Order: sequence, then structure tokens, then C-alpha cells
Amino acid sequence: MRYLAARSVEEALEALADGAQLPVSERPKLVAGGTDLYPALGDRPMRNGLIDVSKISALLPVEAMEEAWRIGAACRWSDLIKAPLPPCFDGLKVAAREVGSVQIQNAGTVAGNLCNASPAADGVPPLLTLDASVELRSVRGDRTVALSDFLLGVRQTALAPDELMVAIHIPRRPTSARSTFLKLGARRYLVISICMVAVMIEPDADGKVALARVAVGACSAVAQRLPALEQRLLGAPMNGLALADLVTAEDLAPLSPIDDIRGGAAYRLVGAQELVRRALSSVAGG
Ligand SMILES: Cc1cc2nc3c(=O)[nH]c(=O)nc-3n(C[C@H](O)[C@H](O)[C@H](O)COP(=O)(O)OP(=O)(O)OC[C@H]3O[C@@H](n4cnc5c(N)ncnc54)[C@H](O)[C@@H]3O)c2cc1C
Repeated sequence: MRYLAARSVEEALEALADGAQLPVSERPKLVAGGTDLYPALGDRPMRNGLIDVSKISALLPVEAMEEAWRIGAACRWSDLIKAPLPPCFDGLKVAAREVGSVQIQNAGTVAGNLCNASPAADGVPPLLTLDASVELRSVRGDRTVALSDFLLGVRQTALAPDELMVAIHIPRRPTSARSTFLKLGARRYLVISICMVAVMIEPDADGKVALARVAVGACSAVAQRLPALEQRLLGAPMNGLALADLVTAEDLAPLSPIDDIRGGAAYRLVGAQELVRRALSSVAGG
């Protein structure tokens, strides 16, 4: 097995391009924190080569660009928590603090959470409410894909075999934009979500909702926004209880939860509706 600790994006891309020529079972795998990749092996040994991108300094920073924030693909959850970011990122930071434990946050990356494409990935709902897109690069060139188009299903993404995610882009929002994240698990810490909810709201000058985004995870193959609810929230006064009362069971129609070891489908729906109510109430302050 060959292990490459890539020192530059170019070195990683060359190795990926070479690997893409091999049969699928023999291709080297990308690894960042390894907190999804290694546990997924179970008792099996790692037989593929590894391309480690966690030491590429160009992929580390969280940067303010002119029109967007850029989270490098090697940015770990703990880096994100420490980064000085505007209030619209509060929900993503709450999610970051809920990913596993501090040890996991010190190793695992935000990009790895997306590329792993678990329905229970805590980073996805907040990034959907932030309208995130992902920058994918290969020796063939660069492309940017909306996060909602990048995630195709359970463990399925739009990533080509020779592509590396280099960054996550988040459009700038006014500083008045507020966000939060709530997670339901079988216990309080170090737990995979039964369901989780992210909310982002922007008030207008009259204290009414000018923009609303609500996303629910672990209740469908890919986390979903709730467009009917988002539309109904527009123009409502920024009063937490009033916003919570606008939530109906029909708003959860885009979801398709399953029964599994963590929770039943019906329980997930009830839980998601209650989390949406609480998240709206908390973000609007009431
Ligand atoms: C004990 C424990 C608890 C956990 N708790 C949670 C939790 O509460 N919530 C949660 O959401 N997750 C949780 N996780 C899962 C995991 O920690 C996160 O998903 C983490 O963000 C994964 O990042 P990573 O850098 O470790 O990914 P890795 O394991 O390195 O990679 C994951 C996948 O993404 C690919 N990949 C990584 N980086 C790139 C890139 N730049 N471009 C293309 N492909 C890439 C890899 O090839 C691999 O397929 C937990 C894991 C453990 C072990």
C-alpha cells in the first residue's frame, strides 16, 4: 500500500489522475482526518493506496473573499469553531461543536463530512441554509457545484474519480442574518443524529422576516430544505413564538425518513417538526 502525504494541491491532483486510470477497487483513496474513512473499514485492512490532503497548507484557511467566505478542504471542525466568522455562521459552529467529541473535531474536516455523504452528516443542513457550493478541482480544471447538487444520495456525490474538493464557498450575508442548529440524538454528546435542523433568518428594517432558510437532516437520503415553510415565514414578525406557530406537519413533506436502529420514521418526523419550531423560536429570540 502506498501512502502519499501530499504537500500541494498539484501533487494530490497528479496522484488522483494516475489513480483514476486503475480499476475502481485498486484506486487510492483520499483521506483528510480519516474519522469516516478508517472506521468504515471495520476489521478489514486498508488495501488501497492513500492520498492524505490534511497537510496541504493551501487547503487549511477559512478566508473572507470579496463576495463569499471560503472554507479550505483541510479545515477541521476545531479550526472552524475558532475562526472569526459573522453571526450567520453560528448554526454551523453549533453543529461543529456537536460533531463527535473534541478529539474528532480536532481531526475531522468539514469537507470530509460532505464528501462522505452520510444522511446524518451534521455539517450539511447548516451549509444548505448558507447556500454553500463546493469547489472541485482535477488536472482537467476547476468547477463549482451547489451543495444541493453535489450530494446525490446515501454515500453518493458528484465527485469524479480524479477530483479533489478544494474548498466550500459561502455567499456573504448581512450581519443581521442569524442562524442556529439543533440535533436530536439518543444521548446528549458523542452521538449520531436521529434528526437535526438548521435555520437561517434575515430580518428587514421593520423587524420582519426578509429571508428564511430551514433544512432538516437524517430524515431523507440527503438533507432537505423546507421551501413551503421558508416561503410562509417571509414577512412574518421576528417573534420566536409566532414563527414557531407557523410550522405545520405538511411542511415536512419533502422528508422521507426511514426506520432504523436510531429511531422510527414517525418519531423522526415528530422530532424534526419540534426541532424546527424550537430553532425558529430561538433564532428569532422569543
Ligand atoms: C467517534 C466518531 C464520532 C462521530 N460523530 C459525528 C457526528 O456527531 N456528526 C457527524 O456529522 N459526523 C460524525 N462523525 C463522522 C466524521 O467525524 C465527520 O464526518 C468528519 O467531518 C469527517 O471528516 P474527515 O476529514 O475525518 O473525513 P475522512 O474520513 O478523511 O474522509 C471521508 C470521506 O471523504 C473523502 N474526502 C475527504 N476529504 C476530501 C476532499 N478534500 N476531496 C474529496 N474527497 C475527500 C474521503 O475519501 C472519504 O471518502 C464521527 C466519527 C467518529 C469516528
